[in-house]
Amino acid sequence: MSINKNQFADGLEIMRRPILPLARLAMLLYLTGPFETVEELLAELVEPIETGGRNYEQPGQFLQEFLSPLRLMESLKNARPPAARILDENQDPLDPMEGLELLISQQALTMELEKINSLLCRPCGCKLCCIGPEDTLAQEYFEIPLTEDESRLFALSVVNNDLSRKSLPADEPPVTINGRPFYEGESRIYHWRSGWSMVLPRHTSCPALDRETGGCRIYPDRPEVCRRPQIFPYVLERQPSLDIEYEGRVLQTFIRQKKLLAVWDCPYVKTLKDEIADYAEACELEPVFRENKA
Ligand code: SF4
Ligand code: SF4
Repeated sequence: MSINKNQFADGLEIMRRPILPLARLAMLLYLTGPFETVEELLAELVEPIETGGRNYEQPGQFLQEFLSPLRLMESLKNARPPAARILDENQDPLDPMEGLELLISQQALTMELEKINSLLCRPCGCKLCCIGPEDTLAQEYFEIPLTEDESRLFALSVVNNDLSRKSLPADEPPVTINGRPFYEGESRIYHWRSGWSMVLPRHTSCPALDRETGGCRIYPDRPEVCRRPQIFPYVLERQPSLDIEYEGRVLQTFIRQKKLLAVWDCPYVKTLKDEIADYAEACELEPVFRENKA
């Protein structure tokens, strides 16, 4: 299928006016202004603002959608406990202001890119995320990680036994089902040592895929992994092994990365490489394009 950039107009419209330049300005205004809450600041932002070379017609309204991550900055004024522990690449703690900006950036971009992804995916008519590997690919199967609850969304046979729970999909020799490697034959749900997943061997598809329309029959309830964009923020990397106890609770730890990752297998990523690089630059992130299903 040939793809014309005009088909991506709705997604590109958002990419040309990313949240981050405006969010950074809002953080500065909040911290230097007389505002107690972020809502008070947003109520004042009624005039158009130009920042980072982008024009935002109704900045307060635009930022409302991202209120939840933006509220994190209230912790700097109200002496609230930190939301997370943010470290640099050498595992030294970052200045709280910089750490908070990165945390807000990660959360706000996750929200924005979920929307962009769904607008860019639709016109492609592509099912790559929902089917097993094509014959041209070396991989024998694709794996869709699931939570235990999500595994119940699919009418597939389930392999949940001592062997599967002790094994990983990449183990050699592989787990066998009826004498054949698990990745030959039908799609199934597995409970591995690492958790639950749906395995899609070659020539199979997710049972929720409507083969005729290419749509997902459980779209509103689809698993978390299916909501992840093919362009996604890697501003921070979660590091559970570095979590610490803080005032009787676990404080999650993240490492600064400041990258934007894009999966090269995806047709809209290939088509919009320059636009994705521009978006990353506006967000002050390094764009990284990488193969996923090769
Ligand atoms: S649940 Fe929906 S989006 Fe996820 S793989 Fe299946 S068909 Fe695709
Ligand atoms: S590879 Fe890209 S275009 Fe294809 S289904 Fe996945 S997100 Fe959509």
